[in-house]
Amino acid sequence: MAQGHSVDEYLETIYFLAFPIGEYRPLAGGSPTLASRVAEMLGVSRASAGEMLKRLEGEGLIERGEHKEALLTATGRKRAERVVRKHRIIERLLTDFMGYTPAEAHVQADLLGDTFTDDMVERIEERLGNPDRCPHGWPVDPEAEQAENRDLAALSELDAGARATIVRLAEHDGELLHWFYDEGLVPGREIEVRDTQPAAGQMTVKLNGQERAIGEKAAAGLFVRPA
Ligand SMILES: [Zn+2]
Repeated sequence: MAQGHSVDEYLETIYFLAFPIGEYRPLAGGSPTLASRVAEMLGVSRASAGEMLKRLEGEGLIERGEHKEALLTATGRKRAERVVRKHRIIERLLTDFMGYTPAEAHVQADLLGDTFTDDMVERIEERLGNPDRCPHGWPVDPEAEQAENRDLAALSELDAGARATIVRLAEHDGELLHWFYDEGLVPGREIEVRDTQPAAGQMTVKLNGQERAIGEKAAAGLFVRPA
């Protein structure tokens, strides 16, 4: 079994692969070998990921698709959505109640892992006033998240001249998440693409009246609602 990664973490990763937005976007062109993609996302060996996927399959949480890719069963999807939802509520507890910055909240929420029972999370959610989104803009309700995916694009997909509002930040790369906040690239901020330089792996954007370059990696992690 993969060290340090629980069944829930695997389900969460597969969930993000199943709803292609975010840093878990499937590799361009062709069907990804999912075991390797899951391994890459979790930073484990392919063998470890393969073993865990076998276990998830045995427990009826995933099934294999045409290309051996892992697909969540109804049970697996329900559990994955619960994990995702819980993570977002805990992040809000950390920012709204415990004073952590949004940039810190993701990692801290991961550290808490399974500390809170489902009942505790429900109570926390109510006390927080049933927040709509995590501090990084992801809807607490996975149904709302999936519905909203259709309206969003990664900033890196926009052409010169496009205007958009930042809605969600990719949050699984802690250093990048800190960088977003340091640079003022936060949910609600309006941004305009002035020019793209694909050969150099960057684009020029206008933010707060100033032009600046943003690299491909960062632009791929900013999910925006085009105007
Ligand atoms: Zn978040």
